[in-house]
Amino acid sequence: MSKGWHHTAAAKEKIKQASLGRNYSEILTDESRKKMANSARMKIWTIEAREKLRQANLGKKLSNEHKLKIKQNGKYNQDNIMWKGDEATYQAKHMWIYVRKGKPTECVDCGTTEKVEWSNKDHKNSRNEDDYEGRCRPCHRKYDIAHNNYPIFKKANKKK
Ligand SMILES: [Zn+2]
Repeated sequence: MSKGWHHTAAAKEKIKQASLGRNYSEILTDESRKKMANSARMKIWTIEAREKLRQANLGKKLSNEHKLKIKQNGKYNQDNIMWKGDEATYQAKHMWIYVRKGKPTECVDCGTTEKVEWSNKDHKNSRNEDDYEGRCRPCHRKYDIAHNNYPIFKKANKKK
């Protein structure tokens, strides 16, 4: 004998249909997956937090779903490692100057005021404000490539 709610026949059938069709791929929409992926990427894990998590997980029997999550996290961690590479160091250096000098207003090469960013003259980890010039994105890119300062090109050149 069932207790509690009395469902109408139609409602019962609805519930039955819903549970039959249910699987994880349907529960997670592409959008929510992307959100999860992004938040996982954006999360900056401290060593302490990782250790805490590791300790918490010790001795825990993992469900298949959880195992899958760990696999996916592994993928994100790889992304994180890449993210912490040359490109990120490059970006971090550029962030510093924004804090110090604010936003550049004009491109020293073409004079535009659109999408101007700080460009470093030598990229030798310069902490000298005067080593930065405002350049629009296209000019910045050209400048860095010409001076072999663009991280991707640096990597490519190393292989040669
Ligand atoms: Zn420019």
